[in-house]
Amino acid sequence: MSVKFKGIVVRENEKGEMDKDLQILTESSGVLFIRARGVRKISSSNSRSSQLFAYSEFVVNEKNGFYTMQESTLLHNFYELRSDVIAYALACYLCDLASFVNVGGDEGTDIMRLLLNALYAAEKNISEPLVIKAAFEFHLAALIGFAPDFSACPICGKPAAEISPKFFDLEDGYIFCGKCVPKEERSPNAVQISEPVFSSLRHILTNPVNKLFLFRLKQPYLDELNEVTEKYISLRVDRKMTTLIYLHDILKMES
Ligand SMILES: [Zn+2]
Repeated sequence: MSVKFKGIVVRENEKGEMDKDLQILTESSGVLFIRARGVRKISSSNSRSSQLFAYSEFVVNEKNGFYTMQESTLLHNFYELRSDVIAYALACYLCDLASFVNVGGDEGTDIMRLLLNALYAAEKNISEPLVIKAAFEFHLAALIGFAPDFSACPICGKPAAEISPKFFDLEDGYIFCGKCVPKEERSPNAVQISEPVFSSLRHILTNPVNKLFLFRLKQPYLDELNEVTEKYISLRVDRKMTTLIYLHDILKMES
């Protein structure tokens, strides 16, 4: 049976002399494992679509749960991501995260759009890597059903805009005032956040994906934002990502 879908190669492994095993993140079916025969030959019409980060329309043959590539049309290769070590590490982490949360279904299209926009911003150097990382993590959490509530303190009802300083409970997603913030033993994930970080979090939540990465933040706020968004998504994903450890190593080395 032939199946047609758009997807991005998130992992590639060489197989035998001329083949590859690919993991392709799709919009509607999560990650598919696909055997791509003969694609390491330059003459293969599918070789360009079988590279890491290549975004293509694929036609694959499905038999007993196994997929083999038949045809492909390359839509964007994201090739430049592989020539910059930070952009590469960031792209690996974003693909990993998107693959982990996209188990198929309705959110798949939005997750794919978010991923493609983030990879484009990284490839074209539109935003700083840490801006892209934070925006991706926090927007993704909202997409998969964990949008925080930034309206008011859930205990006393004081509007969030009037609260200073603000405490963000990363576990339940509320902004608390200083009087109502849960004590540490009850909620170890309530952190005080600065006003610039709160504004950035709101920007990430309320903007469409094509505007998501268009903000700037100075240090130390950019690091603070990344600590918040990384913790926020990791509380929902609950998996140690080796690509995240790799990204941290690369950022440390390059700074
Ligand atoms: Zn309160």
